[in-house]
Amino acid sequence: MILVKGGTLLTLTEQGIIDAGDIVIDGSRIFYIGNSKNYDIKFDEVIDASNFFVMPGFVNTHTHLAMVLMRGAADDIALHKWLNDVIFPIESRLTPEDVYFGSLLALIESIKSGVTTVADFYFHMESSAKAVQEIGARANLGLGLTSKFDMDTVKLKLAEKFVSRYNDTADGRILASFAPHSPYTCTLKFLKAVSKRAKEMGVLVHTHLHETEKEIIDFKKLYGKTPIQRLEKEGFFEAKVNTAHCVFLDEEDYKILKENNVGVALNPQSNLKLGSGIPDIPKMLERGLSLGIGTDGAASNNNLALIEDMRLVSFLAKGISKNPELLSAEQLLRMATVQGAKNIGFENLGLLKKGFLADIILIDKQNANLMPNTNPYSLIAYSMYPGNVDTVIINGKVVMRNKKILTIDEKAVKKEISKLAHRIFIKS
Ligand SMILES: [Zn+2]
Repeated sequence: MILVKGGTLLTLTEQGIIDAGDIVIDGSRIFYIGNSKNYDIKFDEVIDASNFFVMPGFVNTHTHLAMVLMRGAADDIALHKWLNDVIFPIESRLTPEDVYFGSLLALIESIKSGVTTVADFYFHMESSAKAVQEIGARANLGLGLTSKFDMDTVKLKLAEKFVSRYNDTADGRILASFAPHSPYTCTLKFLKAVSKRAKEMGVLVHTHLHETEKEIIDFKKLYGKTPIQRLEKEGFFEAKVNTAHCVFLDEEDYKILKENNVGVALNPQSNLKLGSGIPDIPKMLERGLSLGIGTDGAASNNNLALIEDMRLVSFLAKGISKNPELLSAEQLLRMATVQGAKNIGFENLGLLKKGFLADIILIDKQNANLMPNTNPYSLIAYSMYPGNVDTVIINGKVVMRNKKILTIDEKAVKKEISKLAHRIFIKS
């Protein structure tokens, strides 16, 4: 058992903020949360949290971990050119080992900025699963799928195999999903088949929808409807779906997303950097969509610090609506924790609550940018830097302490990254 003692606890529940509070962790779950007290228990570890804000770890509901390998490789161009001229050619050269080290690097960056759970889809995903398993993170992982032909049965089978092999593994830390890339890289028949299989296997579909205006225009020319409206006709949303972007939605699209309880991963930094547009976050809030926050891959962001996208989501909501009261700091923190967790299939995650999974971050109150301690919700939502995180616990295990990752050799990973980057880019 672990005792996290005397911290300022942001529970994100009806308990609110507990000053000088304790958390007792038993196995992977929170056993006690409340005021500090004395115990008749011999703890395996006691963490003095008296100088820390303590809260649930952040949940990044849309990323592509190994794309950190292409960070800075292609900036200042539009999505379709970015994908076709730069990203796809480099990706064709990536080996499973490259994806493994890329995923580890991305997870180091994520954990150091307080992200304990990610939803990732890419390729060579067995390598990402190995990285998640070893570093001790939590993730929903999907094998990225495209289908140029009518129906690609081979790819569907591969994805099924991945889901069967990895769903609910690593002590429940890893869930698996079906991850068709988008309606512009997959045929309708394939998307329909993938969703049907996901529903049968009881797992998530994770995809990109309505990212650019071009995507909508091209699709309408072919099918006379937006991708979301056409996919609904095909029964695509009968599976549980988490979709990234949703920058361009019409009234009917909002209705469909709401009625089908589709999780929407907002990735505003990626959308802005690629010049795709700005999601109408106030309207999404007004329509009651289930919103989570993602970074997207580091090739289009260009980092994985979810806190930056969180702040941007909040400021866009206020700026677009001209209403500073929209989306409070506490609501924003819930969106980036418990709500995001639900959107990607994790229940009992994202609150400091008895019985919930013990994914907990400690943020040092002594950082100059977090003083004075006026309002912890505000300090985390609006003032925190990614590097303010000191200690990270995931599934009841201490993964980072005093800013040092304990589960893997960070130096060795960085050495490999330098080596493989040389090889990847020397050919490009
Ligand atoms: Zn993406």
